[in-house]
Amino acid sequence: MSPTTNKSEPEFQSDATKELMEEITTRCSLNPDFAQRIGNFGFLELEDSWGDEATIINTARISTTNHRLENLGEFSDRDRNLLYHLLSHNHGTPFETVHFRWRIIAPIFVLRQWMRHRICSFNEFSQRYRMPISAFFIPDAEARSVDGFEVLTDEQTKRYEELMNSLHQFYHTEYAEVCQRLDDAEANGEIKKVSGGRNPYRARARELLRNAMPVSTYSDLYWTINFRSLMNFFALRRKHDAQHEIRQFAESAYKMFELRFPLLAETMNRVIEERNHKGG
Ligand SMILES: Cc1cc2nc3c(=O)[nH]c(=O)nc-3n(C[C@H](O)[C@H](O)[C@H](O)COP(=O)(O)OP(=O)(O)OC[C@H]3O[C@@H](n4cnc5c(N)ncnc54)[C@H](O)[C@@H]3O)c2cc1C
Repeated sequence: MSPTTNKSEPEFQSDATKELMEEITTRCSLNPDFAQRIGNFGFLELEDSWGDEATIINTARISTTNHRLENLGEFSDRDRNLLYHLLSHNHGTPFETVHFRWRIIAPIFVLRQWMRHRICSFNEFSQRYRMPISAFFIPDAEARSVDGFEVLTDEQTKRYEELMNSLHQFYHTEYAEVCQRLDDAEANGEIKKVSGGRNPYRARARELLRNAMPVSTYSDLYWTINFRSLMNFFALRRKHDAQHEIRQFAESAYKMFELRFPLLAETMNRVIEERNHKGG
C-alpha cells in the first residue's frame, strides 16, 4: 500500500500515534493480502476467521443426516448446490456459524456509521485510559469531488487541516497543563500520589478534553461479526449511495473476504445477481 504522505500527517504526533503508525506498517508487511491502509491514516485487517463453507454445510445437515465433511477438500457439486440453496432460500442460521475478526482504524465519523450495525461486537480504543490518536481524516482529491466537480477546494482543505491541527494541539497543550498541576499538587501533598494502576485525575482530564476532539479523529477497534451479518454490511455499505469513506472500507473488506472465501463470495454474488435480475 502507498505510504502516508507528508501532507497527510498531522503536525503534532504523540509517541503512541507514532507507535501505531509503525504497527500498521508491520501488519501490512506480515499479512499483506489481508491488511491494507485506507486514506491518510486508516487501516483494515482481517486478523482471523473461524469456519468455512464446510462448516455451513455441516451445520445445515444436522437436520437430515449424520454425514459430515471433514474439510473443504471433500466439497462436492451436491455441497455447492446445498450452499446455493440455503442462501437463495434465506436459510440464514448456518451462515451465522462462520466468524470474522477485523481490526479497523478509521475516523470517528465513519465508525459512527459502522456501529449502527448491531449484529456484531465492537471493542474500541479508550480516550479515558489513553490519549487520542493524533491523526485526523484529510479528504483526498477523489473524496472532495462529485462527478469531477471539486466540492471542497485545496484552499478550503488547507484551512480545514489548520483547524483540525489546532484542535489536536489544544488537547495536548491543556493536558500538559493538567499534568503539571497534578505533579505540583502531588509534590505539595494536596492530593495523594497514585502509584501504579490508573490515575483517576488524569483519566478525568482525558475524559473531559476528548470532547474537544473532532469526529475526523481516528479511532482503533476490533470488529467481530458472523457471515450472515457481514453479508448485510456488504449489501448496505458497498452500495453506490453509501458514504464514500465507509464504502472504501467496505470494498476493502469485501476483497479480503473474497480472497479467503472464493466459493462463498461466488455463491453470494450469484444470489444477489439473480435477485437483482428478478427485481427482488
Ligand atoms: C446509505 C445509508 C444511509 C443511512 N442513513 C441513515 C440515517 O440518515 N439515519 C440513521 O439513523 N441511520 C441511517 N443508516 C443506518 C441504517 O438505518 C441501519 O441502521 C444500518 O445500516 C444498519 O443496518 P441493519 O439494521 O440492517 O444492521 P444490523 O443492526 O446489524 O441488523 C442486522 C439485521 O438484524 C435485524 N435486526 C437488528 N436489530 C433489530 C431490531 N431491533 N428489530 C428487528 N430486527 C432487527 C434486521 O433484520 C437487520 O437488518 C443509513 C445506512 C445506509 C447504508
